[in-house]
Amino acid sequence: MTEPGPRWAIIVHGGAHETPPGKIAASRAGCLAALTAGRRVLEGGGTAVEAVEAAIRVLEDDPTFNAGYGSALTADGTVETDSALMDGSTLEVGAVAGLVGGRHPVSVARRLLREKEILLTGEGAHRFAATHGAELCAPEEMISPEQREAFESHDTVGCVALDLHGHLAAGTSTGGLTGQPAGRVGDSPLVGCGFYAEDGVGAIALTGEGESLARWMTAARFIQRLPRTTPDDALRTVLEEMGERVGGTGGGIAVTPDGQVGWWYTSHDMPVAYMHAGLTEPRVYLKKTEEQANDQP
Ligand code: ASP
Repeated sequence: MTEPGPRWAIIVHGGAHETPPGKIAASRAGCLAALTAGRRVLEGGGTAVEAVEAAIRVLEDDPTFNAGYGSALTADGTVETDSALMDGSTLEVGAVAGLVGGRHPVSVARRLLREKEILLTGEGAHRFAATHGAELCAPEEMISPEQREAFESHDTVGCVALDLHGHLAAGTSTGGLTGQPAGRVGDSPLVGCGFYAEDGVGAIALTGEGESLARWMTAARFIQRLPRTTPDDALRTVLEEMGERVGGTGGGIAVTPDGQVGWWYTSHDMPVAYMHAGLTEPRVYLKKTEEQANDQP
């Protein structure tokens, strides 16, 4: 019997929603670019936290997605971002909410990761970013021309990863919901709601209707269910139950301690890209049916 080789795995998503036809190619390409950045970190022996940050930074730079530059606008026409990172090896969390003028919200979250506080909001988050060397910009610089003109709705991003050291991490980044009242915060920076990571158990990042995901504590329910089933099945169950009990649709991505990757959505579609040790090339999908067709012998 041969020993299993070293394992690593990573999956990113570009939001659970209905991807407009004109955005499908850009969504796939953006997810693949982010995956590539994260994968490089993992293959080089970097940590899952580093890989998740690297992948999400790429998605935050891409105005196709509702994270970082090009985020959805609030009802006031401003960009307020939420982001989180969790280290499954220490259960440390760093998260920001209502951050204005932070170029890479996920990197502010990463700087907070080793601090006692787990979540900073608004002005406090901005001050923390400034004093800890995170990239700042004028608030208007976060608004893409497309958002300024169209207020177009597109979605949140996330990433989960397993590194060669056996550690898990999860991250999220979003501008929230298009037209949300200023100050509104969804699930994305809330531990146990929009994300979770625990070595030996699993890692998850969610997207979708934040109020529902938070009220259902969707990430926490997933983590409790995962040891008894596959990540796809656990995601499907918690998202369907959420829809039945509190309403709302969503999607999630997950990685298990042994490197299984899972994803599911109850929305129309959810662009994802994933790769793990043993796969010959990355998988990039918009719909679960594409994966099922690809897996047919
Ligand atoms: N969950 C995010 C929020 O409610 C939005 C999204 O995932 O699209 O802020």
